[in-house]
Amino acid sequence: MTNRTHCSIALSLAFTAALAAAQMPAAPAPAAQGKGMPDHPSVELYGQSYTPLSIVTRNMGTAADQAEQFGPFHIIGNIYYVGTKTLSSFLIVTPAGNILLDSTYERNVPVIQKSVTQLGYKFSDIKILLGNHAHGDHMEGDAAVKELTGATVEVMAEDVPMLQKIQPEGRPHPIDKVIHDGDTVTLGGTTLVAHLTGGHTPGCTTYTDTVQDGGKTYHVVFGCSLRSPAVITPEVKAEFDHSFAVVRTFPCDIMLGDHPGEWGMIEKFGKLTPGGPNPFVDAETCHKEIDIEEAMFHAILAEQAKAAAPAP
Ligand SMILES: [Zn+2]
Repeated sequence: MTNRTHCSIALSLAFTAALAAAQMPAAPAPAAQGKGMPDHPSVELYGQSYTPLSIVTRNMGTAADQAEQFGPFHIIGNIYYVGTKTLSSFLIVTPAGNILLDSTYERNVPVIQKSVTQLGYKFSDIKILLGNHAHGDHMEGDAAVKELTGATVEVMAEDVPMLQKIQPEGRPHPIDKVIHDGDTVTLGGTTLVAHLTGGHTPGCTTYTDTVQDGGKTYHVVFGCSLRSPAVITPEVKAEFDHSFAVVRTFPCDIMLGDHPGEWGMIEKFGKLTPGGPNPFVDAETCHKEIDIEEAMFHAILAEQAKAAAPAP
């Protein structure tokens, strides 16, 4: 092969890369957010130390973790896990069709589809698509899910501006219904309550649900990320002040979250035994992630205040 051929291949590869970069969604990629997260301050809780960087690393794992199917498996009642190793996606099954919470990245939609099918459900029976918050790792796949299922996409009003910027391959983000704090999402006897718990994004949404399993009633919380950005603006502080107070008031037997690392999914999955107690019923975890993120939020605020204070 001549140098000229090498050169033209290199050029065409560079062109392809540039084209791919140009087609990337406008929303910030969480992996890139992680790169910018500092390794300070550090907080000590539950026998472990956490930094902003360590929390992002725990949440995101590697690129391979973000794409690798985990399960699918039954969590409790009519709730199933259909996501990947580090990006949660939940299927809520009802007699009138199903609800999907979080499409994750667009490239993961075939993984979620495979999981739904392996559980014995039809992907096309998804009637409502919800999302935790307007970041690509949770809602970039909305357009693809909408195309495959025709589901109604319901989103929190405060996240609409950010969602409109998530446009994989230039397709507009589907938004069929805008909901507000306290609104309910109902399908086939299941009712989810949407709670505005902003801070991580302005419209970060926690869904609460009540399920029946084995003759008992359980309170399920689909938590939204409470992870603070590296710099806390007055607006973000006001959002988190509200959110940390509100999330502690939800009745909770089972805490789920938008990243498996937030709710110890892999560890709990390892404790599943046929006929044994359900490891996902764990009231302690309901507050663990809140405690970690709230401590980190205050540590970042303290660091910011110290940096802004005039030198003695
Ligand atoms: Zn996020």
